[in-house]
Amino acid sequence: MEEGNTIAKRAGSRLCCLCNERKPALKRPKTLEQICRDCFYNVFEEEIHQVIVGNHLFKAGERVAIGASGGKDSTVLAYVMSELNRRHNYGLDLFLLSVDEGITGYRDDSLETVKRNEVQYGLPLKIVSYKDLYGWTMDEIVKVIGLKNNCTFCGVFRRQALDRGAAYLKVDKLVTGHNADDIAETVLLNILRGDVARLSRCTSITTGEDGPIPRCKPFKYTYEKEIVIYPCSDCKIFNQNHTYAYFKKLDYFSTECIYSPNAYRGFAREFIKDLERMRPRAIVDIIKSGENFRISTSTKMPEQGTCERCGYISSQKWCKACVLLEGLNRGLPKLGIGRSRFLENSNDNRKEAKRNDGDRSIESKQCGSLDF
Ligand code: SF4
Ligand code: ZN
Repeated sequence: MEEGNTIAKRAGSRLCCLCNERKPALKRPKTLEQICRDCFYNVFEEEIHQVIVGNHLFKAGERVAIGASGGKDSTVLAYVMSELNRRHNYGLDLFLLSVDEGITGYRDDSLETVKRNEVQYGLPLKIVSYKDLYGWTMDEIVKVIGLKNNCTFCGVFRRQALDRGAAYLKVDKLVTGHNADDIAETVLLNILRGDVARLSRCTSITTGEDGPIPRCKPFKYTYEKEIVIYPCSDCKIFNQNHTYAYFKKLDYFSTECIYSPNAYRGFAREFIKDLERMRPRAIVDIIKSGENFRISTSTKMPEQGTCERCGYISSQKWCKACVLLEGLNRGLPKLGIGRSRFLENSNDNRKEAKRNDGDRSIESKQCGSLDF
């Protein structure tokens, strides 16, 4: 082998820098190492396994729902979770949990992908819909409110829908496909908006431990480019054909939501991509910076109670979903957009609706290629 390596190097063809045996198939976006396809699978899966084990994300015997949208992140997550569960005997009962927001031409198609994943991975699937839970589809909501605050409604409703789906499945935990790029982006957005409380929370690998269902992010340190796209070392162009999802021939849906308008988030995303081009470590470094922020004692954290109307957890009299629904049902759709004090002052709704200037809650991913 030694001789073979020397000959290959002399001939100008380098070998995979991990196994030193096979020809490299890609330049790893996270480290810029030239590696072969087999080593890529290994490091990709092993890093996620280490994150799971190192953070004690699961206990044997737990029931775990995978938030599945049919998009690349959650499709790869479902695949990798079932692989690792088998390979390392995690002893988990895995389920797929999807939300149907009622977006014609987008979610109906992506749910077809999840239904195929259900068969391909042999994981039971539960779909919860906005129409069933709230009486409204996103198509109907957009007709009323237009395209300005649609993601606020959708984000609030999704969070609660996932919790309700998780309760139905009686799972102990919910895992989501948020990747390192998503988390870095959320750190930046929380800095830009001065939201210190969320900033200190958004890098946690597990959140919601005080709520109905803990949520974990096994892809916290996984680069989006490795999940779906990377600049191919041979042709030097962005090439969708050298990715984990592609190599493994995973079946996923890649169209953006037709109501995706989030320009501000889009800028943060582009900024991170630019930084990553210059220095791939930038993504991990932003996450590390976020982790090191501490909440000052003067920052007041809201106390958790339950919503008087639907019983869901809430720090106010009514939960955010009930406030938004009240607005929709009363023909005052702007009610509850932003930091509302309306419940403490419910006679003053109209004045309140006028004061609100846009949602500031960005804890859940408000998506383009929605992956919860
Ligand atoms: Fe909902 Fe995401 Fe579409 Fe916004 S972009 S409307 S959050 S699915
Ligand atoms: Zn190799």
